[in-house]
Amino acid sequence: MHAFPGGALALDFAGTLRYRHRSQPREDMPTPESLGAWFRESGITEREITVKAADLREALTLREAVYRLILATMSGQDYDRDALTLVNNYARKPTPVLQLTSRGRHVEASVEQAFAAVAQDAVSVLGGPDVRLLKECSDPECSQVYIDRSRGARREWCAMDPCGNKFKAAAYRARKRLGGKSRASTVSL
Ligand SMILES: [Zn+2]
Repeated sequence: MHAFPGGALALDFAGTLRYRHRSQPREDMPTPESLGAWFRESGITEREITVKAADLREALTLREAVYRLILATMSGQDYDRDALTLVNNYARKPTPVLQLTSRGRHVEASVEQAFAAVAQDAVSVLGGPDVRLLKECSDPECSQVYIDRSRGARREWCAMDPCGNKFKAAAYRARKRLGGKSRASTVSL
């Protein structure tokens, strides 16, 4: 199962290379099947799509371009031209098809349409009002970027599991060492 803590497709897509701050990040999309599963679990398509090895290579190229644009946005730097062109080219393509059925909404996408959905999401997150809410997870190893919609923008972690819990447990052990004299520090998600 893939994780979707970012609050936006593009952020979660970029996050499939997890722990980028470790010397060895973790690849959550090592196979075409895992990319197909990401497309379904993300809700981009409800129908199974056959993903080929070439599609996976394309996905990883798009993912890294999206991540470069996220980093540039957050640090206020100019966009890398190649990354910008690549993402914009995908964003220009047809997006998934949404239909109303007697059982509710139904969405289907080809691989190309799924890429377009991710790219368009990158455009709307990085170029829209949510851009001011972007944060990177406070876990020093975790590189997940998320939209902090919490009150007072106090969210610290991409998700409680595992990032927040890791620090909660460490804070708990620290309090125990102090003999329970210190007041509980609040860890907000
Ligand atoms: Zn995290």
